[in-house]
Amino acid sequence: MWPLISGHVEDVFDRGKFSHGRKVAEFERAMAAYTGARHAIAVNSGTDALILLLRAAGLAPGEGVVVPAFSFVASATSVVLARGRPIFADIDPETYLMDPASVESVVTGRTRAVMPVHLFTQMADMDALSAITDRHGLLMVEDSAEAIGMRWNGVHAGLLGTGGVLSFFPTKTLGALGDAGMILTDDDETARLAGILRHHGRMGKTIDHIAGISNLSGISGTNSKMDDIQAAVLLGKLENLDAQIRRRAELAAAYTERLRDAPGVTRVPVIASREATTNPVFYVYVIEVERRDDLVRHLTEQGIGTEVYYPIPLHLQPCFAELGHVKGDFPHAERACERTVALPFYPDMSDADVDLVCDAIGSFYAGHAGRSGT
Ligand SMILES: *Cc1c(COP(=O)(O)O)cnc(C)c1O
Repeated sequence: MWPLISGHVEDVFDRGKFSHGRKVAEFERAMAAYTGARHAIAVNSGTDALILLLRAAGLAPGEGVVVPAFSFVASATSVVLARGRPIFADIDPETYLMDPASVESVVTGRTRAVMPVHLFTQMADMDALSAITDRHGLLMVEDSAEAIGMRWNGVHAGLLGTGGVLSFFPTKTLGALGDAGMILTDDDETARLAGILRHHGRMGKTIDHIAGISNLSGISGTNSKMDDIQAAVLLGKLENLDAQIRRRAELAAAYTERLRDAPGVTRVPVIASREATTNPVFYVYVIEVERRDDLVRHLTEQGIGTEVYYPIPLHLQPCFAELGHVKGDFPHAERACERTVALPFYPDMSDADVDLVCDAIGSFYAGHAGRSGT
């Protein structure tokens, strides 16, 4: 990867501007071209991208944003940090994506926006969700942090409503050497406001009042600028992105081939069939298993790293306790938290690595069957 990156990094050192400089602008142009977005606004993380997007979209204090109960915590904390109120909805048990029927059932008069999360491999059902936002006059804001390369009828994730985000956290499909993120939008006003908010509310040499956002915290900007070093790394890695996405698809197919009928594995990734033209992009490879925590321990002992995305559903996180949810409110989200595990998955893996992991899973359940059978 270094040969792709080094020229860009040297540019940054030569110019000596390390934050919000020309390399960042160059990366924004490259990402606008890659995604087809009218505006690609570089920031310092996917989380800040979500907060600034919600603020720029005009979320007012106390307004509700519907988010899935099964996601990374930032999907909901970003709403709180933008002074809104998360409203949780359940997920589809097969795909783990926001369930439109559940969304419909939680929308109230104080709801302002719906924020689907395009999780793990594919986009939420944007036709069904757009029908809901249209019917209720709501904003559509996408947590597309994991969704680089995913498209819905040719439109890149994040661009089906007011806007979306990308995360370039190191483990993401396109990862920096640290934190970085981006806002994607086709809306000129949202882009203008987000661009101002990321840089202390700065439009020219003065700190300006932002038209359309009338209270003090709404007009106060922050420091969410991207580092030029990260932009340089990402520009280089972007050249390899499509090849890496293809390699991810091969690895996913190899896992599925081995695990589809394996004892103890109750679900391999399910790609929803949609009327829209869509393409899966495997960011992680997540399966559902029996005795998940015991399996994780067994694999750890064999030196195989796994990850549980996500161990606690958002409605049961202590930070959202005042919303008053209890276990049982969103059963599909709760079940996913108990049974899913992400297997080792990165483009440099070999097919032999996949076999090694699958053999270790096989030996765990074979050992268990033997013990319980005697
Ligand atoms: C990674 C991620 C984020 C946050 O991105 P950071 O760059 O880590 O701040 C938000 N939402 C989802 C669904 C993510 O996977």
